[in-house]
Amino acid sequence: MMKMPARVVGEEKVKLKKSFIKPWMGIKYLFKKPVTIKIPYEKIEPAPKYRGFHTLDWKKCVGCNFCGQICPARAIEMTWIEVNGHIATRPHPKVDYGRCTFCQFCVDVCPTGALGFSENYYLTTGGLEEDLELYDWVPIHPDKVRELNEKFNDYRFPVERIKFNKETREVTYYLRDGSTIQFKILGYGLRPPKPPAKPAAKPAEKKEGPKAEEKKE
Ligand code: SF4
Ligand code: SF4
Repeated sequence: MMKMPARVVGEEKVKLKKSFIKPWMGIKYLFKKPVTIKIPYEKIEPAPKYRGFHTLDWKKCVGCNFCGQICPARAIEMTWIEVNGHIATRPHPKVDYGRCTFCQFCVDVCPTGALGFSENYYLTTGGLEEDLELYDWVPIHPDKVRELNEKFNDYRFPVERIKFNKETREVTYYLRDGSTIQFKILGYGLRPPKPPAKPAAKPAEKKEGPKAEEKKE
């Protein structure tokens, strides 16, 4: 196979116009207000109907997975949960913000209006590994998010910390107003999780009656 020679424009062909003024033109930006803001110390008002973090009414959600099917980023995982000892009869969506593009297709397709979105857009952490739990959550009720927004008025993520116990699979949301939401994750997918297998019964020990003793003799 014949190799084509790579074509590179010679430096001599690049026209450089020397200018005395251009290097000094950047000085004007020293006197302009920065366009960036200092998160988390400053905030900007989101546009009306800004598509921020999700909200979910757990009672309205029927577990149809329309949201999971339409999600172009595959950010939704249907999750079986247990609240106060009651196992939910349908799974609910869990959103992975490492993948979500905030397109809100999931909200548009939700037939019951269970899934919604808030105007909240701030999510900053201290960079600890446990903070990663905040980026993968089953959203909470819109009324609670509204209440927190009215109290803090800063568009931050409504939960400060999420603790997930890998052994017991218990999840605790520590909300910004000091309250908590607790539930248990039983499994993922559309089918209900299988109940944990019971430990195998020990084989019954053979009782040695008087007849067995006679045989021995
Ligand atoms: S949030 Fe809506 S679309 Fe998603 S499973 Fe629940 S009811 Fe279905
Ligand atoms: S907003 Fe878009 S990307 Fe994010 S979970 Fe919904 S459908 Fe998926």
